Amino acid sequence: MPPKLKRFVSPGKGNGLRATVRIRRGELVYSAEPLACCVSNKLARDVCHHCFSRRENLLRCSQCKMARYCNTTCQKQAWCGHKTECKCLKSLRPRVPTDSVRLAARLIFALLSPSKSSSEELYTLEEHESHLSSMSENKKQGLSQLASMLELYVQQEVPDLAQEGASALPPSCRDPLSLIAKVTCNCFTISDGELQEIGVGLYPSLSLLNHDCWPNCVMVFVGTKLQLRAVRDINPEEELTISYIETLSSTEERRRQLEDQYHFTCRCQHCDSQDKDGLMLSGHKSTWDPLKEALPRLEGLKAESDWQALLEGCSHLLSTVGCDVSDENVYKLRMTDMAADACIHLGHWEEAVGYGEKTLPVYSQYYPDPHPVHGVQLVRVAKLQHYLERIEDALDTFKQAYRIIKLTHGDDHPMTAQLLMKMEECRAEMVQFNSR
Ligand SMILES: [Zn+2]
Ligand SMILES: [Zn+2]
Ligand SMILES: [Zn+2]
Repeated sequence: MPPKLKRFVSPGKGNGLRATVRIRRGELVYSAEPLACCVSNKLARDVCHHCFSRRENLLRCSQCKMARYCNTTCQKQAWCGHKTECKCLKSLRPRVPTDSVRLAARLIFALLSPSKSSSEELYTLEEHESHLSSMSENKKQGLSQLASMLELYVQQEVPDLAQEGASALPPSCRDPLSLIAKVTCNCFTISDGELQEIGVGLYPSLSLLNHDCWPNCVMVFVGTKLQLRAVRDINPEEELTISYIETLSSTEERRRQLEDQYHFTCRCQHCDSQDKDGLMLSGHKSTWDPLKEALPRLEGLKAESDWQALLEGCSHLLSTVGCDVSDENVYKLRMTDMAADACIHLGHWEEAVGYGEKTLPVYSQYYPDPHPVHGVQLVRVAKLQHYLERIEDALDTFKQAYRIIKLTHGDDHPMTAQLLMKMEECRAEMVQFNSR
């Protein structure tokens, strides 16, 4: 089948990808395996390093004691890509390099291995931007540290990157600083069906996709395979876009994040019109400012999984200052979301469903239809309603989720199959209940 996309020069944005044919909403546009990928350090014990499934009781690699696998089949299949990395991990124990260093090393090993070829890629690593020239000194310094770590980490297997590179690595990959800069600017977060981060990967062709805060495509993963799907009907020649960031924030915040992380100023229509800003920042600043001010601290508690303190912080603010702020306010929304998270982890189901249900009407206003984040939020709420035996509500919410997920994740995705099963369960339970 001819590809549905091709490379072009997008006015004002450099390289980009555009459609070659008419693409329907929900259609799979492109599917790609990573050139290199790795499980995030923080999930290294919970996710198989080969197939990226989340499982309990994973087998541990006896050499590096870091990599874990579902079973010996996954371990065997992973060995070819893991064996060089394994020696490096072992040499550094008990230290473990950061995710980006491990990813950069896997990229070097992949490029040095004769079996792997990236010749069919639309975009070579050589062309990838490092943005080093436009980076702040501070950021550059951070990257230099990562580059030194990378050299130390691969030292045993690739003693001299510049030397080794002369034969097999593209010139720009021989300089550790430029390599690590390219990796951090161009890597994708690999997430599971519920959009929880599980790892990082490089998919060179798709690095060509430009950003839009209201994009026409989304990326969803099946294991490590990236699937790009259309969320709107797209005309031939139209540019394909994704969002690089979580878009639940005001124009000013989105622009700042994109400038800091990706080194460009967003000029998308959504930013130029600032159309949701009024709603997102609804209410007088003095009423919602305490919520905004508290968010960084609460996000810190979330990162540390301190659920009890997080719930206390959120519920206190929401039941005091939060009462005077409308549900549409984006800071209140984020806090309500975190409160729901904390309740789920603490097993406070009634409270969790209350917070979750509050977010749903607001999500549908702020995300384009369909959007995977909105779909996954519906699934979370539906599961809680189901657990609490509110079967009719659960079925209704599962249906709304299914309508979205089958477009964003596709019919073949395990998540879509799981939803069909959940809806069946609800229907069967309703029949059972009515016949009692
Ligand atoms: Zn596995
Ligand atoms: Zn190992
Ligand atoms: Zn924008």
